[in-house]
Amino acid sequence: MISADEPSFRESVDLMFRRAARHLELGPGLEEKIRVCNSTYTVRFGVRLRGQIQTFTGYRSVHSEHMEPVKGGIRYALSVNQDEVEALAALMTYKCALVETPFGGSKGGLCIDPRDYDEHELEQITRRFAYELIKRDLINPAQNVPAPDMGTGEREMAWIADQYMRMNTTDINGKACVTGKPPHAGGIQGRVEATGRGLQYALQEFFRHPQDVARARLSGGLDGKRIVVQGLGNVGYHVAKFLSVEDGAKIVAVAERDGMVTNDRGLDIDALQAWMAGNKGSIRDFPGGTFSEESAAALELPCDILIPAAHEGVIHRGNAARIQAPLIIEAANGPITFGADEILRQMGCVIIPDLYANAGGVTVSYFEWVKNLSHIRFGRMQRRAEEARSRLMVEELERLSDDRHLGWTLSPDFKQKFLMGSDELALVRSGLDDTMRTAYQAMREVWYGTEGIEDLRMAAYVVSIGRVAKTYKSKGL
Ligand code: GLU
Repeated sequence: MISADEPSFRESVDLMFRRAARHLELGPGLEEKIRVCNSTYTVRFGVRLRGQIQTFTGYRSVHSEHMEPVKGGIRYALSVNQDEVEALAALMTYKCALVETPFGGSKGGLCIDPRDYDEHELEQITRRFAYELIKRDLINPAQNVPAPDMGTGEREMAWIADQYMRMNTTDINGKACVTGKPPHAGGIQGRVEATGRGLQYALQEFFRHPQDVARARLSGGLDGKRIVVQGLGNVGYHVAKFLSVEDGAKIVAVAERDGMVTNDRGLDIDALQAWMAGNKGSIRDFPGGTFSEESAAALELPCDILIPAAHEGVIHRGNAARIQAPLIIEAANGPITFGADEILRQMGCVIIPDLYANAGGVTVSYFEWVKNLSHIRFGRMQRRAEEARSRLMVEELERLSDDRHLGWTLSPDFKQKFLMGSDELALVRSGLDDTMRTAYQAMREVWYGTEGIEDLRMAAYVVSIGRVAKTYKSKGL
């Protein structure tokens, strides 16, 4: 447990910001202007459920409007509070700047345990919450665009979009008021997997730089790396699956609410997820591994890569010294407190920070928003034209081979891949991969190239704050 003498989540983000801002010459007042949260709206609303009125508390915080719309998810959890929403909104500002999505930062939350309500009740609650935010322009395609976060997903986003369109019947861009919608309701292919996919691309990029890998006292590539994942929600599930199935890594432990399962030979992530789905979310008795009730102890297991994908503050001053992983990639927002960050750095642990690592979600949200505004699916115009060009090339090669009796034949696998035009999913993945690589390289340049920048988190903040500051300056502020 995080102890009371550690800074709050928001204070932790502030401290990380300040540590980096020292390396930038922002000029008087600008540092403070960027750091503070612009506004937080609290709403308490009633919904008639099961014969009585229940009152709910929700928030939408806007951290920075240096670019609009502002962007960030809506979280459903009992632990939601103002401090948390403000910390998460600030992280969104820095995240968007780092991966160059043209948004300011925002975040919302509703104090609710979604498991306590059935689908119809959740729809009523979500629509009412959305109504309160929409009428204040806190949901609006040009001003504030929410997305899924912990406890919400495609279903909730579809309700929010529909609510907005009911209240703004003539807004032709209404669908762009929220991202993370299901594809049949204006969403985009690849959004659900996006954060996990982005984490995979981030790790792939990290392992392309042997110098960086050596700083984490590791060598080689992702193949065979032993990984511990905390949290098998949407993000944890996708990253664990991609790394194990596509990159040859071994997921040696997964921690969940009720405990952890370990398997030295690597867990079958799809089987584990199917087990959870059939057992009310529990990993207990999973036949493909050994169960223990000590969920938090998973963080302290020996491994090559630790992926906290659950909640903020799980690595704190109380357990940081016992972490054995030489490389941590923050899938959750704020899983490492400011104090723990310091301890881990002293221990030589390399941390790939949240504002970079989990930015895949908002990156694909950006693609979805652009798709909604352009009213056309990516690839619709060019896919077949691309295929026709490739076919010309293949036919010409085959003709040359025949004419000159060269006896060349193209392998069927090559031919099939080469002839395939890019559909929306392929384009989304390509855009995401490019984004993750480019952002890593921007961080890395600062990490190696600037005196006094000790770690990737500081480098990430320096890049982001520098970009936000430039926008402010060009606005004359
Ligand atoms: N909730 C996600 C995050 O923390 C996604 C935000 C978005 O897509 O706007 O980054």
